[in-house]
Amino acid sequence: MNALQQNKNIKVLISEQEIQNKVQEIADELNQRYKNNDELTLVCVLSGSVMFFTDLAKKINIPTKFEFIKVSSYENSMTTGIIKEVLFNLPNLEEKDVVIVEDIVDTGITAKYLIDRITNDFHPKSLCFVSLFDKKITRKIDVHPDIYGFDIDNKFIVGYGLDYDGYYRNLPYIGYIE
Ligand code: IMP
Ligand code: MG
Repeated sequence: MNALQQNKNIKVLISEQEIQNKVQEIADELNQRYKNNDELTLVCVLSGSVMFFTDLAKKINIPTKFEFIKVSSYENSMTTGIIKEVLFNLPNLEEKDVVIVEDIVDTGITAKYLIDRITNDFHPKSLCFVSLFDKKITRKIDVHPDIYGFDIDNKFIVGYGLDYDGYYRNLPYIGYIE
């Protein structure tokens, strides 16, 4: 079965409108939290958060800089994920208020890695970890987003940037594979 045929088996879990409403709520919270700021640095964790990042950024009313990083995680049989930095070229973040924008926190391995790496090596003035989705049930590391949008139970979701085998990122809604 090819990816297009598989598309027919995608069930809508969260509609485009529900996503947009939630993104606005998250933007409102960031606008409130940083209302006295001269600027903000938004870090997009490629590729999964690209849709969320661009929609969220458009709703931020504080002067904002964009940065892009890309990591991939591998799982071995011992369930310790190893993170590989595919793109990690951040500027000096001292004196900067940094918001990491992620798609989903699953095991938590990626979130923990990014928080530690950016805190220890880039010393931002502050760091906020935002994730559109929080899959608490599959967490292996005790790490929690500062702000998140939706709780997801033990489903593999696709769309709105999230992929299965590289496909479905372009769906404007969140679906799951039956
Ligand atoms: P972690 O397990 O928390 O380190 O999450 C690593 C990455 O796995 C996330 O950033 C996503 O890219 C991906 N991921 C986790 N759960 C899902 C899912 O349900 N759908 C699509 N990608 C997922
Ligand atoms: Mg991701």
